[in-house]
Amino acid sequence: MFVIHIASEYAGVAKVGGLADVVQGLTRELAIRGHSVEVILPRYDVMKFDRIWGYTKAYSDLWVPYHHMWVHCDVYFGFVDGVKCFFIEPHFHKNFFNRGVIYGHDDDAERFAFFSKAALEFMLKAGKHPDIIHVHDWQTALVPVMLFETYKNFGMVHPRVCFTIHNIHHQGVTGEQVLRQVGLNPAHYIVPHRLQDMRWPGAVNLMKGAIVFSNFVSTVSRRYMHEVMHTELGHGLQHVLNQHGTKCGGVLNGVDYAHWNPEVDRFLPQKYSLATLDDKYKNKRALRERFWLRDEYKPIIAVVSRLDPQKGVGLIRHAIFYALANGCQFVLLGSAPDKKINEDFWNLKRQTNDNPDCHLELGHDEGLAHLIYAGADMLVVPSAFEPCGLTQLIAMKYGTVPVVRNTGGLADTVCDANHGSRPFHERTGYTFNDFNNAGLESALVRAIGMWCHYPKHWRELMENGMRQDFSWKTPAQDYLNIYELIRAK
Ligand code: ADP
Repeated sequence: MFVIHIASEYAGVAKVGGLADVVQGLTRELAIRGHSVEVILPRYDVMKFDRIWGYTKAYSDLWVPYHHMWVHCDVYFGFVDGVKCFFIEPHFHKNFFNRGVIYGHDDDAERFAFFSKAALEFMLKAGKHPDIIHVHDWQTALVPVMLFETYKNFGMVHPRVCFTIHNIHHQGVTGEQVLRQVGLNPAHYIVPHRLQDMRWPGAVNLMKGAIVFSNFVSTVSRRYMHEVMHTELGHGLQHVLNQHGTKCGGVLNGVDYAHWNPEVDRFLPQKYSLATLDDKYKNKRALRERFWLRDEYKPIIAVVSRLDPQKGVGLIRHAIFYALANGCQFVLLGSAPDKKINEDFWNLKRQTNDNPDCHLELGHDEGLAHLIYAGADMLVVPSAFEPCGLTQLIAMKYGTVPVVRNTGGLADTVCDANHGSRPFHERTGYTFNDFNNAGLESALVRAIGMWCHYPKHWRELMENGMRQDFSWKTPAQDYLNIYELIRAK
């Protein structure tokens, strides 16, 4: 099958969060299975160019119709982890992708609407007729709209579209000029059964457009699909999802174990496996040395996260003090795009700087994330909502026991040690329901108690997590089944 993914992030070269891991992991698995897979991305100035093999200019005469003009683009090609990637670079005074960051500008909707248009134009001009176009989140949500409304008329009649919602909280709600710029008549699309936003009737909702126009809509876990269809977590899109319910389904994300695996992890001072689990503690020591923590018989509780209200920043803060008050050590690796949250955590960092049991590292650091997953005993994920969550899956692979809120993908993947419905050898962590301090404590107290008083049971929990298979094998097959299903229609 010929599959093209169009996305705004790709792990290794341009990553902000889990979206990058998912597009990379899924495309790699599809390529390993012998499918023809290509990825189209923006060419950002902040990409890690050293991770792209054979980076060369592939097309230099792509002209994209935009508003009342044509924008000249170059398209670069290279392999990332063996997967064919194309990178589109517009030459335009607005410098869409040379901004030093991937997201965070007032014209983000315009930037990614342009990218969606350019990706379609590139496929058209390059004569690419994939069986499936797979798009991700609001950034590329206009692709199915333009494909079926515009590019179909230019002969692109073959591709079917799968749209994956990684986070429905961000929907790409924007003004009508964004449609006009890509050649869509707003009057025709700002109507209830198309792209009109339910909460701001004058506005365009890009994600809604993809739900309406795609052949299949997936979320990154089954629980999350249920939550966005039937609770306020749908952020206003419940109705449209229910209307299109027959083409919706949840596929749990996988983890790329070529990248996230303590047996082969190039970032670790000491590799280890289920059979050599004691070697994990050499990484614990290395983590303590790196963060100048004292070497005492205590569990290390960790957080690796974007510091965003979604991730439960208030509860993360509470976890720090609760851990320290209960004889544990605490490490955090987090990046906060929001200025206020960033300031709060810098203050916290100053406050805890001299504490030999605590270290907060603010910023994004891939290598350090690996060391923390390997060196910590527990990983806390107290999210308000979590479409899938990758950090708990990675933690389990590294024998680090997750303590998570019972929501979305966290609920689908972590089985509580005390209250889980499965036999003990399948229980993998601790969960809590209430999104407040008492809720978090109800799980942490049990986890800390188990670590301190029942080390044998704790070891079993670690091993249970390591035995779980959250590789891309099953989810890639699920997506292939979806691709076959929509191709047959
Ligand atoms: P989200 O996509 O909402 O940020 P996920 O749990 O799906 O959350 O994915 C998070 C990914 O980003 C994981 O691979 C995690 O290791 C990584 N990550 C999060 N914060 C950081 C950070 N500060 N430094 C390095 N990696 C991070």
